[in-house]
Amino acid sequence: MQYAKVNEKIIKRLKQIVGPTNVLTDPEALENYSHDETPLYSAMPEVVIKCTSTEQVAEVMQAAHEYRIPVTPRGGGTCLSAGAVPVHGGIVLSLEKMTKIQEIDKDNMMAIVETGIVTEQLGKELAKHGLFFPPDPVSLDSCTIGGNIAECAGGPRAMKYGVTRNYITGIVAVLPDGTIAKIGGKLLKNVTGYDLMNLIIGSEGTLAIVTEATIRLLPRPKIVVDLLIPFVCVEDAMNFTVELLHTDITPAAIEFMEGDVVRMVSKYLGRELPYQNANAHTIVEIDGNDKNRVRTMYDRIGDIAMKFGALDVLVGESVRDREKIWEPRKKIGDTLKDLTKNVTREDLVVPKKQIPRLISQLKNCAKNYGATVYAFGHLGDGNIHADVSIEKSKQVSPSEIDKMRREMYEITISLGGTITAEHGIGLSKIPYLRIAVDDKQIELMKKIKAVFDPYEILNPGKIFPDS
Ligand SMILES: Cc1cc2nc3c(=O)[nH]c(=O)nc-3n(C[C@H](O)[C@H](O)[C@H](O)COP(=O)(O)OP(=O)(O)OC[C@H]3O[C@@H](n4cnc5c(N)ncnc54)[C@H](O)[C@@H]3O)c2cc1C
Repeated sequence: MQYAKVNEKIIKRLKQIVGPTNVLTDPEALENYSHDETPLYSAMPEVVIKCTSTEQVAEVMQAAHEYRIPVTPRGGGTCLSAGAVPVHGGIVLSLEKMTKIQEIDKDNMMAIVETGIVTEQLGKELAKHGLFFPPDPVSLDSCTIGGNIAECAGGPRAMKYGVTRNYITGIVAVLPDGTIAKIGGKLLKNVTGYDLMNLIIGSEGTLAIVTEATIRLLPRPKIVVDLLIPFVCVEDAMNFTVELLHTDITPAAIEFMEGDVVRMVSKYLGRELPYQNANAHTIVEIDGNDKNRVRTMYDRIGDIAMKFGALDVLVGESVRDREKIWEPRKKIGDTLKDLTKNVTREDLVVPKKQIPRLISQLKNCAKNYGATVYAFGHLGDGNIHADVSIEKSKQVSPSEIDKMRREMYEITISLGGTITAEHGIGLSKIPYLRIAVDDKQIELMKKIKAVFDPYEILNPGKIFPDS
């Protein structure tokens, strides 16, 4: 596809739409928008614009459509598949100023929000009303609801509460030609024609820019308790999880960190962590409204854990103790960034009983390339993050990284899994889509893209091989 360059005339038009202060062209400012959190990927935009309303987004898309300029939507820039990298230059359209909560409808348990709002900020506002939006990506202090919708983000609580898709009942979406589409509403059931909203959710900003979302809410659980349960090995942690999920207790989360990860975090934090010599650490979160019931639940979880060889069961009831339990899990990204050379951050998913086999095969695979796998993630739903690092002083060629990644994906698929659970294909997994999805399905997806965006101006160069 041939794209036009952003020239003075186009800059002038963009300034008329969003105002001069919301148009950035200074290279230093542009650099901040040239990458997301994916290692190794970046590309400079020609201009960044910050919209403040759906109508502005629509006008920008009309202009981009008319001139054939690529547009990359952007929320918090925490993407881990390089989806927010403007690989064809053009316009980065940031929603960072669209943060209004339009309505919190307590009777219908719905909220309507602009999608640039940071996920944690929305959670804090809802808590004031005793309400709860469960999806909790670990990046929630900086990612946005728009990015969560585009990636169909999950998080630790997905195992009990599901992912972003399960809470969105309506969207306002700006299509690539600038048309504003209002889809759904405060409706818990809706089968009126094809489900375009759910096609747009998880489409990684390639079909439409979502500017507003109607969100289904739950009552906020009054009591939340976290348990830190270290095990000697991953198998014991997995057997414990399988047994626990057969009981009538549904934990909100069962998270996992392998021993090597915990020891690295300890090094990064500069202090010893509890049971850091254990090889598998689980964090089990339980919630509810009745103190005695929650206590009975965690006593039973403790008994099951001990039966499967747990080294201890540490209980965090206060906010402070819970934060202490979660701290190592939340610091993994920073730790590995700081102490190692991260060559790829994988987001694999397998039927959960296969997790020990997956981790051990990935580790062997990486070792053959002089790399180390640091595994952690969401034990409760089979979604394991495998950050692959090499020592800072070492080099691995791009072709070797490519070969290693292919092997890792083939291992995952041979265990009944797939190559991304919540981070998306974006730019970084394009060469591997065909390992996981057959040509016929890719053709169908490309036709859908062409119907929405015949000139390929919206987030081009993402998802599809040869895009
Ligand atoms: C430390 C860390 C922990 C993480 N933990 C998790 C986790 O637990 N679970 C999880 O699912 N993910 C996780 N992520 C990945 C990431 O945070 C999520 O994918 C998040 O949803 C991205 O939101 P964002 O606002 O940062 O989007 P961005 O990075 O800005 O964009 C992501 C994609 O969405 C598109 N996009 C953004 N806004 C819109 C919009 N309004 N309309 C249309 N398209 C849009 C962009 O073009 C891009 O393709 C983590 C990332 C980091 C760095």
